[in-house]
Amino acid sequence: MLLIFIDGLGLGVSDYACNPLARFSPRVLNCFADRLGPLPRNGACLPIDACLNVPGVPQSATGQTTLFTGVNAADLLGQHLAGFPNQELKDLLRRESLVSRLKKESYSVNFANTYTPGFFKERPRWVSATTAMCEGAGLRLNTLDDLLARRSLYMDFTNRLLSRGGHQVPIWSATEAAEVLVRQATEYDLCFYEYFLSDLAGHRGTPAENEKVLSELDEFLFHVVSGMELDKGSLVITSDHGNIEDSCLPGHTMNDVPGLFWGPIRDQLDGMHRLDLTQVAPMIETCIRER
Ligand SMILES: [Zn+2]
Repeated sequence: MLLIFIDGLGLGVSDYACNPLARFSPRVLNCFADRLGPLPRNGACLPIDACLNVPGVPQSATGQTTLFTGVNAADLLGQHLAGFPNQELKDLLRRESLVSRLKKESYSVNFANTYTPGFFKERPRWVSATTAMCEGAGLRLNTLDDLLARRSLYMDFTNRLLSRGGHQVPIWSATEAAEVLVRQATEYDLCFYEYFLSDLAGHRGTPAENEKVLSELDEFLFHVVSGMELDKGSLVITSDHGNIEDSCLPGHTMNDVPGLFWGPIRDQLDGMHRLDLTQVAPMIETCIRER
């Protein structure tokens, strides 16, 4: 099972003026509020509600905690929480994340992202939901050595940011990066990867920069979808809240997010037309347990 989490990508309408995805022809992120697909290799796209019956605009800390635990974290706090999880959310992630639950039952899990030496030298006071989840579950975090051995990826998947930061690493094409991720997916019961330059671009990028981020991401995702053995393994691509799909609005949106599904997990979608963020983790766990 491979889960790719893309921060800040909602389902917008296919409007050339506001949605960067409507400015090129995405092969995988070909999912709009007014047109769901077609997707390669019999993939399915369902809208996922990220608002979760809690007033206000969806945010990262609560959205990601909900996605990874299946518990409505925004409802728990009574509000959508931006940025990094607070102690209450970290406790929830430690107790109830899909990684904690799967690890307890001896399933193998890999968080495919790479952490730099700086993270271990001076651990940041605030960490993302994914980091909190992995630490809470006692999962080993990948280092630059793992990346150099092609066992993990950096958050931009090309390694350009690492290289610019002075690290001696090879620059990977979208195809090479996808090969690394697909191989990890075959070696673990659950492998997951987080990409958040989409949310960053949604906050700060120009329309041209946003289009570039999404077209490069789409190419990477296309090679991942192409490389997966979908008779054996499933692939899920989703997000925590909207942002980059609407360049005409500043910041996050209240749009649904895309739920993209390939492989055996698709069987669970029969009769479903729209999900909410609490339903993704249980579906992934069911799929892994039934294998
Ligand atoms: Zn954001």
